[in-house]
Amino acid sequence: MIDKEATSEISLNSPLSDLPGLTPTRARLFSRLKMHRVRDVVFFFPRSYEIPAPLMDVDQIREGEPASLVGEVTEIESTSRTPGKSITGILVENESGAVRLVFFNQAYRATQYPRGSRVMVSGTPKLSGFRMEFVHPKVTVLEEEDIAQAQILPIYSLSEGIKQWDLRGPIAETVELMADRLTEALPSSIRTQALVELEDNMRDDQTALPDIATAIRHIHNPPDEASLAAARSRFVFQELLVMQLAMALRRRSLTVDLQAPPIESTAMIDARIVNRFPFSLTGDQRLVIDEIRRDMACQFPMNRMLQADVGAGKTVVAIYAMLSTVAGGHQAVLMAPTEVLARQHHRTLTRMMDGSQVRIGLLTGSISRRERAELIVAVASGDIDMLIGTQALIYGEIEFKSLGLCVIDEQHKFGVNQRVKLRSGGIDPHVLVMSATPIPRSVALTMFGDVELSTMREKPPGRAGVKTYLGRDEWRNRWWGFVRERLDEGRQAFVVAPRVTSVESDEESKESVASVEATYEELAKDQLRDYQVELLHGRMPPEEKESVMRRFANGDFHVLVSTTVIEVGIDIPNATVMTILGAQRFGLAQLHQLRGRIARGTHAGHLCLFTDGGAAPEEYERLQVMEQSDDGFELAEADFRMRGAGDLLGQRQSGMPPMMVADLQRDEAWLLSARRVAQAVVEDDPTLGSPELDELGKQVRRRYAKRLELGDAV
Ligand code: ADP
Ligand code: MG
Repeated sequence: MIDKEATSEISLNSPLSDLPGLTPTRARLFSRLKMHRVRDVVFFFPRSYEIPAPLMDVDQIREGEPASLVGEVTEIESTSRTPGKSITGILVENESGAVRLVFFNQAYRATQYPRGSRVMVSGTPKLSGFRMEFVHPKVTVLEEEDIAQAQILPIYSLSEGIKQWDLRGPIAETVELMADRLTEALPSSIRTQALVELEDNMRDDQTALPDIATAIRHIHNPPDEASLAAARSRFVFQELLVMQLAMALRRRSLTVDLQAPPIESTAMIDARIVNRFPFSLTGDQRLVIDEIRRDMACQFPMNRMLQADVGAGKTVVAIYAMLSTVAGGHQAVLMAPTEVLARQHHRTLTRMMDGSQVRIGLLTGSISRRERAELIVAVASGDIDMLIGTQALIYGEIEFKSLGLCVIDEQHKFGVNQRVKLRSGGIDPHVLVMSATPIPRSVALTMFGDVELSTMREKPPGRAGVKTYLGRDEWRNRWWGFVRERLDEGRQAFVVAPRVTSVESDEESKESVASVEATYEELAKDQLRDYQVELLHGRMPPEEKESVMRRFANGDFHVLVSTTVIEVGIDIPNATVMTILGAQRFGLAQLHQLRGRIARGTHAGHLCLFTDGGAAPEEYERLQVMEQSDDGFELAEADFRMRGAGDLLGQRQSGMPPMMVADLQRDEAWLLSARRVAQAVVEDDPTLGSPELDELGKQVRRRYAKRLELGDAV
């Protein structure tokens, strides 16, 4: 044991050479594992643990169930029938009875555990005659003073040439030396609150998370499994709390520190808006609208993201918010990712506002210079109430007279690190972002932790739904027959392929990827020759794309063969059949988006997924999930399980640091608790200025200040 007096100068930042117990050879091993300072050793957490079977009496031991037992070696017998082959049997006894250990071809065991030695045996026994027998168990010889207990051992990540025992001793000593000197980042009130905010079924019997000294000891050398779980929870919670505090501070800096026009919505205005819709709102639409009304009534900007399943009716929510903004005397802008979508929104709004005073402008790449100039003037003077357009254009040079609300549709890259850069006269607009793809809640709270989240899972009533089939190649002809029948009934059909052109010149050509052009030619010549088929892809000029889309929406032709440009948002209720070729090349979320295109009307939709170029069995398995589930949130969770959080929307892409101990999927309950605690802490102390939050504030700054542009907020 290290003498604590002699080491009182050692701090977390001390180099390893200050540690008296660490030989230079060991120190070199440590540096190969990137441990250079005392801090690195203390926070070098085990990757896993060796959890021994519980200690038992002989009569508690059950065949096939792991068990440990302490006893004395009373008999040893070795037999060797053929040279080089031996069986060693060892009898271990205690007051409760005896068990037999059996080793094959390990004659040295007989000398390793001589008669009279006290041993601890762990393994999974089987019954042999009337006695429990352990074949090749783990055996530890106990010294006189050793307390026999089934000790949990830490397993550290190693690199070549380093063994667990090189690390275990020195780490344990360093941890023991430093444990009581660590600065506590979590005041006891927070350690208690963490459990109060945890969902009931997760709570066990803990009432508070352990303090740092206990947690650091137990994460390295847990006395039992409960202490290990508690220690782990503390570090998971702490990591998530630091992240959520950063998010809460940023939420605050994007809201209460800024000024926005309060938009009051009275019952009369509400009724007037709702009456404009040709249907009644779904329960979820109503709930979200009320959240938005509450947010917009404040004099700081709303910063909310609406996540909804495809077809849940986000547009209605957006229109509601825009109309109440205009009713409040301010302007609203709606930004869409594509021109096609911007025009669709413009059509919907114009139709809905028919006969009203509301003036709506459309700003896209295809309007003339003169129209554009006029529009810009009208927006600046306040002659336009609502402006719809693509993001790129609106971010250019538009000045608003009094912008009250900015809606961003079908956006999933928004979130941390992105701000809406539209202000007028020192005033920030309320912001509503509508997410294109449902994402798992835990990912949303990380990626979009700096915005308020609304979720709509419910779909409007009267939807006939979509039947999804995973097609086999030999069905293709039958499927096209089915498509023709639907077309004959007056419906329209989408065909989606992953590529525009087939690649022939390069090496990929042996892998035949379905393409829009080849598919179009084949269908127009063969299976669908009696129908009008057109094609659409991203390489066509915008006006042409727009006109194809418009004519398809008008019902001017039967079949649209396209790439995923139709993916987001397009609403054509008469199109009810979709064929996706090369389906294994798309993610589940994307397939679900595509499927959303034919789930819009009162006619049942039919989707058939074909693979191309010899898909692997796992890929079929993934596609089967599409057959089984029609819930975008469920599919997102499935994608998350199969591909992990990093892949999904990409944590990398978000620029957020990776989690060290927490796992967003496994630790979702702690994430929710951390979010609630963080919110309360920041409401109470927006600068984290109180002394007991000092260390926590430091950790937030160290990890997130730059990334989240927290500035001097903390
Ligand atoms: P998304 O959430 O995918 O953007 P949309 O806003 O495009 O969905 O709505 C999908 C379809 O559902 C549209 O045709 C819309 O008119 C219709 N719709 C929206 N809300 C309702 C409702 N409450 N009742 C009936 N139909 C609705
Ligand atoms: Mg939409």
